[in-house]
Amino acid sequence: MACLFCGSKTVQDSGLPLNRYNSKVFTCLTCTGCGLIMVDPIPSRDDLEKMYPPSYQQGVSKAKIDSHKKQPGLRFSYDRLFALIRLKGTAAKVVDFGCGNGQFVSNALEQNIAIEGVEFNATQVEALNVSIPETRFYTVDAFFESAQRYDVIVLSNVLEHFTEPVEMGKALLGKLNSNGVLLVEGPLEGNKSLVNAVKWLYLRIRKRLHRSYETSHAPTHIFYSNYDNQIRFFEQLGLKTVHYQTTENSWPYPETIKGCKTPGLFLKYLIGLFSKGLAFFTVRYGNTFIYAGEKR
Ligand SMILES: [Zn+2]
Repeated sequence: MACLFCGSKTVQDSGLPLNRYNSKVFTCLTCTGCGLIMVDPIPSRDDLEKMYPPSYQQGVSKAKIDSHKKQPGLRFSYDRLFALIRLKGTAAKVVDFGCGNGQFVSNALEQNIAIEGVEFNATQVEALNVSIPETRFYTVDAFFESAQRYDVIVLSNVLEHFTEPVEMGKALLGKLNSNGVLLVEGPLEGNKSLVNAVKWLYLRIRKRLHRSYETSHAPTHIFYSNYDNQIRFFEQLGLKTVHYQTTENSWPYPETIKGCKTPGLFLKYLIGLFSKGLAFFTVRYGNTFIYAGEKR
């Protein structure tokens, strides 16, 4: 298998346990060139259909949320995204690619941002168009077929789900106006971070102790990137970096003490808390990033 970021064919076993899903065995490989960790094999169309049933979207949400605060499960506050969008001016044409339940689109419309949305599932797109008639939502195919171009494309917790990130990145750049911005936020699960380190160490130790230890979850995250290979990926696509920041989130550990129903969860909560503190003193640290790159 060739690296999904740099194309190198030199890959090695990552030491992570095998993952069984949809009657198939998935492993994780590490690129010796750029350090990207990738799922192998890449999930097939059949796997993807099972991974993303219509219930994955959880309906449509027009809930008005506090844009100053980072909401649980999200990477950054809406205000951070609004500020980066406004760098392209107040009349910028924006699209949220992989807009899910439409909550960000709905809140951005409230801020007078000219935004549209794209989702993978046709039924979900229909529900979004009915519930949020102030703008338009497209299926992925309709989006790429339309002649419309944008000043800003937002990818929020979407990039890591792409099975062909380079091809998809190039296609998205084709939908940007010249000097348009690709605004991306997501996880950096291969980066320097205590939360990442504990998570991976736990899995590697369990595999060492029990050779037969396997996990069984939907391999929705196709790759685990780090600070360096992530920025190189964007720049090789043809983007000029205008903003790149990492931060530490508790995710997948509990973000608040309220979610800690067992001593194990409480310990994970403490690790997350300590790790967020460490992020203040360590450069290029953290399991989460936000990036804005301008099309050259
Ligand atoms: Zn690589």
